[in-house]
Amino acid sequence: MPTLIVNARIFAPEPLGTCQVLVEGDRITAVAEHIDLSGSALTVVDAGGNWLLPGFVDALTHPCGGGGEGGFQNRTAEVGFETFVRAGVTSPVGALGTDSISRSLEVLYGCVMGLRRQGLAAYMYTGSYRVPVDTLTGDVARDLVLVDPVIGVGEIAVSDHRSSQPSAAELRRIAADARLGGIISGVGGAVMIHLGDGPAGLKPLYDALEGSDLPVSAFYPTHCNRNSGLLAEAAGLACAGAWIDLTASTVPEFIRAGEVPALQALRQLIADGVPRDRISISSDAGGSLPHYEKGVLKGLTTAGPGVMLETVQAVLKEDRRVVADVVAALTRNPANALGLKDRGRIHVGASPDLLLLDAGTGALCDVMCGGRWLLRDGTLNVPAWANRR
Ligand code: ZN
Repeated sequence: MPTLIVNARIFAPEPLGTCQVLVEGDRITAVAEHIDLSGSALTVVDAGGNWLLPGFVDALTHPCGGGGEGGFQNRTAEVGFETFVRAGVTSPVGALGTDSISRSLEVLYGCVMGLRRQGLAAYMYTGSYRVPVDTLTGDVARDLVLVDPVIGVGEIAVSDHRSSQPSAAELRRIAADARLGGIISGVGGAVMIHLGDGPAGLKPLYDALEGSDLPVSAFYPTHCNRNSGLLAEAAGLACAGAWIDLTASTVPEFIRAGEVPALQALRQLIADGVPRDRISISSDAGGSLPHYEKGVLKGLTTAGPGVMLETVQAVLKEDRRVVADVVAALTRNPANALGLKDRGRIHVGASPDLLLLDAGTGALCDVMCGGRWLLRDGTLNVPAWANRR
C-alpha cells in the first residue's frame, strides 16, 4: 500500500517548507504541498511538523572494523545494522582501512551483504590503503562491473607514513580502471583517497592527474579537515571540480593537534567560495581513534556513525541558516560523488530513504530505507527473517 507522509518540514536537501511525500514501493512518486489521493487506499503518516531529511549517505565507514594501532589486541569491532540505523545512515559505504592483511575484502563483502539483507542500502569499495590494490576478482574494473555492492576503490592512502607511497603512475592506473568499471556498470567509479598528515598533502593527486585524460573528480579525498593547510589545498581541488570529504569523528587530541572540526570546516569552505555541492561529510565509523595522555598511547576508541546525526542536530539547534548545506553534505553530495543518483534526496524517482527528526529535540524517531520502515517511533523494525540468530 502506498504511504503518504504529511505535515513534514522537508530538507530535500534544499528546504521545501511543509510538504507531503508519496512513497509507492521503492520509489518516491510525488513531493508537493498537497497531494490529492482522495479515495485511494493508502497509509497516512502524520509527521506532526517534524523534520524530514534524506537518509545519510556515509561515504566512508568500516563495517568490518578499521584500524587498530598498537597491536592485534586493538582491532576495532564490526559496526552493525542497528548502529547505522540509529545514526540515520541508510547508505553506509564500507572500506577496508589500514589493515587489509588480517581483514579482507571477502569479510567486508560479507558485512555489507549482511547490512543489505537487513534492509540498508549498503555499498563498498574494493581495494584498501595499499597499492597494488587488493581486489575480489583480480582486477579493479572487474570488481566494479561484476560485484554489485562495489561502487569505487578505496580508501587508498597517500601522504601518510602507513601508505604504500604509491607513484603517480600507480594512482593514475587505479583511477583509470575505476573509471572504466564505473562507466560500464553505471556507478561512480570514484577513488576514495585517505589523506594523511604527511607534508606532500594533495601533491600525489595532482601529480597523477597531470598529463592524464582523467577528470579531477576521479579522486575523492577524505580527512580533508585533518589540518588547516590540507583544508586549503582541498578547497582548491573542489574549486577545480572534485568532490572533497570531511571527517566528522574526532577526539580532543586531534583538535588540539590542528584538526578543523567538520562543521567549522564546512562553514569555512563555503565562506571561501567552494561550491556547496562539492563538499561531503562522512563518519569513518569503525575506524580507530587513539587516546593519548602526554604523548603516550593509552587506548583507542572507535569512531561511530552517530556523528552524522549529531552534526545535523547541532545546526538544527544553533544555526538554521546552514542546515540545507549540512544536510546536502550528508546526503546528496556524497551520493553524487559516488554515482548513487537515486540516493540522498527527496525527489520524485528517488529511493525513499527517509529520516524523521523530532522538531523539538532533534531526536531521530523514524528511518525508512527503500520504502521499508527500519525504525518506527524509536523502535527497530526488522522482519524476523532478517534478524540475527
Ligand atoms: Zn582514512
